Amino acid sequence: MFAYNAPTDLLKDRILLVTGAGDGIGREAAKHYAAHGATVILLGRTQEKLDAVYDEIEAAGYPQAAIVPMNLEVATEHDYIELCNTLHQEFGRLDGILHNAGILGVRTPIENYDPVIWHQVMQVNLNAPFMLTQTLMPLLMASEDASIIFTSSGVGRTGKAYWGAYAISKFGTEGLMQVLADELENTPNIRVNAINPGGTRTNMRAYAYPGENPETLPTPADIMPVYLYLMGPDSKDTQGQSIDAQA
Ligand code: NDP
Repeated sequence: MFAYNAPTDLLKDRILLVTGAGDGIGREAAKHYAAHGATVILLGRTQEKLDAVYDEIEAAGYPQAAIVPMNLEVATEHDYIELCNTLHQEFGRLDGILHNAGILGVRTPIENYDPVIWHQVMQVNLNAPFMLTQTLMPLLMASEDASIIFTSSGVGRTGKAYWGAYAISKFGTEGLMQVLADELENTPNIRVNAINPGGTRTNMRAYAYPGENPETLPTPADIMPVYLYLMGPDSKDTQGQSIDAQA
């Protein structure tokens, strides 16, 4: 496991956006970021799940979160601009984005892959992080120390049969991260990296590997050290890296 001991006040006063914050890894990251002092903007598609995370953060006495219900599969340019305007009014800046929301699609050979599902997966896993990053860049530029974290996967580095659009969206994510990191090389206040969570005990993993015993897998809480490290100031000089959470 990636080793890092985060001080309690690591993310004090930071304004962070987490996508897919209602469940799985995103839910855990949102709570960890709040526990370390951040005001977390919880973006996701299921209001009740976001409400539950909001309530947990409030009950724990962490900084009050904010909720942004948004379905990244159908969000339009207008929705992204509206989000940017709201965050600008509320906070004036953004200190980090965790692009975590993702869908698996289906596991089937490319020759059988349903084009409708292909587009859904590309939209949520790759196009939405691009649109969010592009639209929110002025708010990230306004931060003294901003971190953009993309979510990769092992099948986004080496092609593997039947992983279809999911794998290819993750290859694209690695590419987006690298291109953006290179473009921001001389922008010292923004770093861009990716995390490959590795097999983690979530609904997505259970769906992908129905025969696997979930108890054998690390939980989302177990893989949080790298999520904290990359979001906080200790990773200031880390740029363009794709890091394994379970290395
Ligand atoms: P989960 O399925 O548990 O959670 C995914 C989250 O993304 C959910 O909160 C879900 O919302 C949200 N989401 C899905 N579609 C949309 C959408 N259209 N709009 C907004 N939010 C959406 O997955 P994990 O926690 O396992 O995965 C998190 C990330 O980690 C993904 O990018 C995944 O590809 C990656 N990953 C996971 C691995 C694992 O073993 N778990 C391994 C490698 C990579 P809702 O709950 O409302 O559906």
